[in-house]
Amino acid sequence: MLASDQDRLNCFMHGLKRRNPHQPEFHQAVYEVALDVIPYIRDHPIYDRHRILERLTEPDRIVIFRVNWEDDQGNFRANRGYRVQQSNAIGPYKGGIRFHKQVSLDTLKFLAFEQTFKNGLTGLPMGGAKGGSDFNPKGKSEGEVMRFCQRFMAVLAHHIGPNTDVPAGDIGVGSREVSYMFGQYKHMVNQFTGAITGKGLSFGGSLIRTEATGYGAVYLLDNMLRHHGDGLENKTVLVSGSGNVAQYTVEKLIELGARVISMSDSSGTIHDPAGITTERLAWLKELKNVRRGRVQAYADEFKVAYYPGKRPWQIPCEIAIPCATQNEINTEDARTLLNNGCLAVVEGANMPTIQEGVDLYLEAGILYGPSKAANAGGVAISGLEMTQNSMRLSWSREELDRRLQGIMADIHRQCVKHGQEGKRVNYRKGANIAGFLRVADALVACGNI
Ligand code: NDP
Repeated sequence: MLASDQDRLNCFMHGLKRRNPHQPEFHQAVYEVALDVIPYIRDHPIYDRHRILERLTEPDRIVIFRVNWEDDQGNFRANRGYRVQQSNAIGPYKGGIRFHKQVSLDTLKFLAFEQTFKNGLTGLPMGGAKGGSDFNPKGKSEGEVMRFCQRFMAVLAHHIGPNTDVPAGDIGVGSREVSYMFGQYKHMVNQFTGAITGKGLSFGGSLIRTEATGYGAVYLLDNMLRHHGDGLENKTVLVSGSGNVAQYTVEKLIELGARVISMSDSSGTIHDPAGITTERLAWLKELKNVRRGRVQAYADEFKVAYYPGKRPWQIPCEIAIPCATQNEINTEDARTLLNNGCLAVVEGANMPTIQEGVDLYLEAGILYGPSKAANAGGVAISGLEMTQNSMRLSWSREELDRRLQGIMADIHRQCVKHGQEGKRVNYRKGANIAGFLRVADALVACGNI
């Protein structure tokens, strides 16, 4: 980086931190984009004149609200709800809802910021947003989850709509929670509209939406490998997490001939050296989605190793796909992956590698697929769910899978176009610049509003 660009970056980050104190995840997400965008802006001063980076780091608005609900013992409980509407430059606000005890404004601002670029990369008309609550769904009864979702939506409904803001699921929010929220929204507005995605198939949901984030990550990885004369067949892969994204990442990897040897949850990691099979994955899905158990039960059932409190990254592999949560790969983990000969890291989760870890991947020249490109498949099919809802029709599984593959291939093309550095492709730079341009050009065209 030129010294003048570095000065500009330092100055920009100093101002950002001053305006947004105590928000380290938001700072991290912005820094990773600014690193690539500031040198680009130097050569394209129109974006500087319109202060695009500064505007994109200030959400259009943030709604913070109290959610009152009642637990099974009749106690009144209160949680905090949020919706960060980051940018509607290229379409209605769009992004998931997260329910997790650690949800904070910081986390949701980083996620909404990332979402804006990710949605731009899909080529579909969707702005960026994210929302959630510090409600912890773990250990809650069915009735408690339902009542919380209804009360959360009772407030959020005033701020969303099919042409305004269209939420979806994320950590702790799957089809059960989306359905409860959709039911509440419909009840309040007396309209059947696509104001939330990830719905059940019998009431406006889209085929492939459940699978899309995981499948999409593997499609991007497949494009990256083939672009470099390699392939997925027989590759040894570590996956972290065992939720929605992890499950369908593993499913597609198995289908394409890779050997997946780990999955995890917040309690520990299982190591299945022979490779997780389709039958074992079906068992795990039932464990996680129906019985809501812990991955340790997989190790007990199939007599494989279980590492309590550990993440998978110390196990030797050729490819790593983190699918759990942010910053789950620290510097030491990244170094271990590289020392063990890892060829590629593709991010199913949002921002799962800390900044220094990403620097190590890029220095080592391995294939690195950043989250905003790799996990865009989920929101892409959400976008197509919105289209199907507007047209009041449903596309087939084959049609949607074909479109998903097309969108991931196009994201790969955009990353190559903007990230080519000599013989190698810097996918982080490519994704950042391509996502930025899509949103920035719309902001420039619409003037200073
Ligand atoms: P789920 O809630 O379905 O699964 C999350 C998984 O990650 C669980 O296995 C969970 O373990 C684990 N996990 C959560 N927090 C931690 C933590 N602090 N430490 C270790 N493990 C943790 O979520 P999703 O699969 O939907 O989301 C996973 C990631 O993918 C997130 O980063 C999300 O933002 C991202 N993403 C999701 C999309 C989607 O379509 N769902 C779209 C794009 C990105 P446990 O069960 O113990 O909590």
